[in-house]
Amino acid sequence: MNVDYVQARERMVQEQLVSRGINDPQVLRAMTKIPRHLFLEKELWDCAYEDHPLPIEADQTISQPYIVALMVEALELRGGERVLEVGTGSGYVAAVLGEVCAEVFSVEVVEGLALKARILLSSLGYRNVSVLVGDGTLGCEEHAPYDAVVISAAAPCIPRPLIEQLKIPGYLVFPMGEKELQTLVRIRKDSAGIREEYLGDCHFVKLRGRYGWED
Ligand code: SAH
Repeated sequence: MNVDYVQARERMVQEQLVSRGINDPQVLRAMTKIPRHLFLEKELWDCAYEDHPLPIEADQTISQPYIVALMVEALELRGGERVLEVGTGSGYVAAVLGEVCAEVFSVEVVEGLALKARILLSSLGYRNVSVLVGDGTLGCEEHAPYDAVVISAAAPCIPRPLIEQLKIPGYLVFPMGEKELQTLVRIRKDSAGIREEYLGDCHFVKLRGRYGWED
């Protein structure tokens, strides 16, 4: 099949994002622009804009477009921020962040995925996105503090270093829970302390590492 990717993207944005209440113009613009199919194996290009997650290498997944939009919108970015992502995977979320904020640091524990994402993001011109290899539950002290943090894998609890590396005020968005039983959580850190908000059900691969699930 010869898919028109530009048209597929526009349809994805209208039918999956706008119709479900995503209205941050920056997020909608980013997801209309980014060639999501390039973040997948060629065999999957024709279903790249469908309404579900898809497999990537190392038994991981690229998230459903709506969940990506919901997470990034929840960070309430205005353009000048420095953001940390845990779980680069294909690099798609990092690209969306790269479009809507000033500087992105994305940490991936699987070296092969990190290298591939780094090459792709660089070939697409994202000079403001850095992909690092390591256990992202420890954050990345070197570039902290962050205006916002997003975890792209399901965590058992709030990884303490990520809260510590978050600015005041700042948002941390992440899926909390086990396989099949996850809730998307937004933590707001401000001078009064920490507040949790629940954004809905979701389904992510498990977070590994020191503050993740045991391997
Ligand atoms: N944001 C990704 C989705 C990634 S799936 C995308 O747009 O494609 C979750 C990713 O988190 C996987 O690649 C997995 O290897 C990674 N991951 C799991 N535990 C991690 C940890 N402790 N530190 C960094 N990355 C981790």
